[in-house]
Amino acid sequence: MAYQALYRVWRPQTFAGVIGQKIVTQTLQNAIITDQISHAYLFAGPRGTGKTSCAKIFAKAVNCLHPVNGEPCNQCQICQAINENRLTDVIEIDAASNNGVDEIRDIRDKVKYPPTEAKYKVYIIDEVHMLSTGAFNALLKTLEEPPAHVIFILATTELQKVPATIISRTQHFSFRRIVAADLTEQMVKILDEKQITYDPEALDVISRAADGGMRDALSILDQVLSFGQDHVSLENALEVTGDASDQQLAQYLLAIFKNDLDQALQTITTLFMNGRAASRLIEGLIALLRNLLLQKSSPELLQTLDYRPLPADLLPFATEVTNERLYRMIDQANETLLQLRTSAHSDLFLEVLTVRFVTGTQATDPVTPVAEEAEPAENQVTGLRAQVKDLAATVARLEETAKNSNGPSPDRPRKASPTPRRAAIRIDHDAVDRVLSKATRRDLDAVQEVWPDMLSKLSPAKRAMMQVAKPVAASSEAIVVAFTYAFTLKTANGDQELQTDLKNELNHFMANNADIVLVEEAQWPQLRKTYLQQHRVQKRTVPAPTSVSSSDKQPAEQSAAPTSVVDQAQALFGEQIVKVQPD
Ligand SMILES: [Zn+2]
Repeated sequence: MAYQALYRVWRPQTFAGVIGQKIVTQTLQNAIITDQISHAYLFAGPRGTGKTSCAKIFAKAVNCLHPVNGEPCNQCQICQAINENRLTDVIEIDAASNNGVDEIRDIRDKVKYPPTEAKYKVYIIDEVHMLSTGAFNALLKTLEEPPAHVIFILATTELQKVPATIISRTQHFSFRRIVAADLTEQMVKILDEKQITYDPEALDVISRAADGGMRDALSILDQVLSFGQDHVSLENALEVTGDASDQQLAQYLLAIFKNDLDQALQTITTLFMNGRAASRLIEGLIALLRNLLLQKSSPELLQTLDYRPLPADLLPFATEVTNERLYRMIDQANETLLQLRTSAHSDLFLEVLTVRFVTGTQATDPVTPVAEEAEPAENQVTGLRAQVKDLAATVARLEETAKNSNGPSPDRPRKASPTPRRAAIRIDHDAVDRVLSKATRRDLDAVQEVWPDMLSKLSPAKRAMMQVAKPVAASSEAIVVAFTYAFTLKTANGDQELQTDLKNELNHFMANNADIVLVEEAQWPQLRKTYLQQHRVQKRTVPAPTSVSSSDKQPAEQSAAPTSVVDQAQALFGEQIVKVQPD
């Protein structure tokens, strides 16, 4: 039997089975019981919180031949047809891939015909915020006068992008992030049924990484299981999520609080070498710092809330470190988190943050050991300030180099860095450039379309690994695949069999000897930007007209080349950058 992802197998089939959305499901159920059904609903909330599942349950419940208490029976022919996706009266549209006006116009034309088998025709439009303005206007016309036999369910993760005119014509439901305890409970249920043992801490790590999304939680659990089928270990959970354990983070913070820069940098370097992601490390740090603050202000709150307990090592510091220092560190960490989004040199930013953590300390912070408070401390601070400046300059230089050179290595030795270099994952820039030079949006669309089928032919373990990867660029002969987690990328890079399997599958619908280039998702925006900038730089090096301001308006030197980075980017990737299509 073909392997099915956990979140598919465990998708709820009744309102009672939906986890963490009691208010929504109760209200929908009541509407069905009292026969007060609206013709347009808007389900808004974070990804993986049950919006599409609820839409399908609702479609079943309103059409079910033997509903019980507002729940679908899942037995009648209508329920079964919907469960098997073969009822033509329930129409699912993914606006992320069908964002044209035409598709909505098509709805407008067909909406007047009555349903063929069911009582109601139900249109489920997922990611509705992705519709173009024209499509929204067309949809609005339909929502203004919906025929009695039609129900629209619009789902979105970004409510603020849905026009007010649409929102006002719908009944609006907010889906909440699912609390960690509920995520964990569901995972326990699944693992118990599959008779798989687990470290409780492993499930905590997964719940945290899933950030309130059941689908994410189960996808991560799937991956962890692919590392070890009979036991869910903390070790594997940390590997998959790129998290550090609380103990490791506590060790780092201890060094910071003791102003021991060397020790702090060493700890963070070790975590990196073990494949931990910079952004996840910082998120973990912020969570710990927040808990320290809570511990100081109201320890009982820390226990009653959904928060994990502080590692014992850190407890003594809860009273010693000032609130000001904790606030300052949280601010600094947040700043770095933002910088990480636009940089490929995440390790370096984390080092800079570490130095800032230590040098940002005021001499008045009571945690500074008394012996160090006099002149030596001042010298130390001055020295560290210089080090920060040095590091900041290195960051700027590296960014510049990345922009302007064809250099193949993102991790060339950095002179100013005070720590030994870690073994970073090598990205083959030349290979990426080769794909990008011939990439088209059409090739990418084609690959994305067959991608789920390709993955379905892999072995379960390999497929689980590829669940966190997606094609982000394609030409007719090669594709670039981006991985969410550095660790998974590393594993995939070392897995020749996987790469061969993927190539073989690709060869079915692309040129023979199709090539696959693997990159990390976090690095992809920078890789793409670098390519586009280089492309432009090369163009501009052709003897330019004297007037700088008019250079953009000159006919392009190479007539085939698009004129702006934006044009080029759109030609390569389309208007919206690739999104994960969960279903
Ligand atoms: Zn039924």
